[in-house]
Amino acid sequence: MRDTLHEFQRSHGFGRGISGVQIGVPQRIIYMEIARASYCLVNPAWVHKNTETFRLWDDCFSFPDLLVYLERSSAVGIRYSDESGAMRSLEANGSLSELIQHEMDHLDGILAIDRALDKNSLCTRQEWRRRYSGGVAANW
Ligand SMILES: [Zn+2]
Repeated sequence: MRDTLHEFQRSHGFGRGISGVQIGVPQRIIYMEIARASYCLVNPAWVHKNTETFRLWDDCFSFPDLLVYLERSSAVGIRYSDESGAMRSLEANGSLSELIQHEMDHLDGILAIDRALDKNSLCTRQEWRRRYSGGVAANW
């Protein structure tokens, strides 16, 4: 999963996480790299999800040229096993929180497009750059 994520980052210039189901591994496994840290989550489960939410343009390497405007909880807590089988827990907010929610959704067969807020919440990456970042490439 690490190799697949790195290959995608090399070829597309973005990508922070991957779930087993995206590459045909029928297990509840997530691998993430964010803020110079990496996480391998085996059988992750929710401990809590904050009811406070925020909205963002999300992307996904299962459909790399599409962005989706959606809502995520501002903070979450999960428990999981790490690569060695040790039980761990993780509290997250901001970017890590929304990334965990994105990847947990994959394990349940939910894609970002399923969470689009309305009919204006889908945008190609090219269109998004033109509309929202003045032509400057997003730094993902
Ligand atoms: Zn995804």
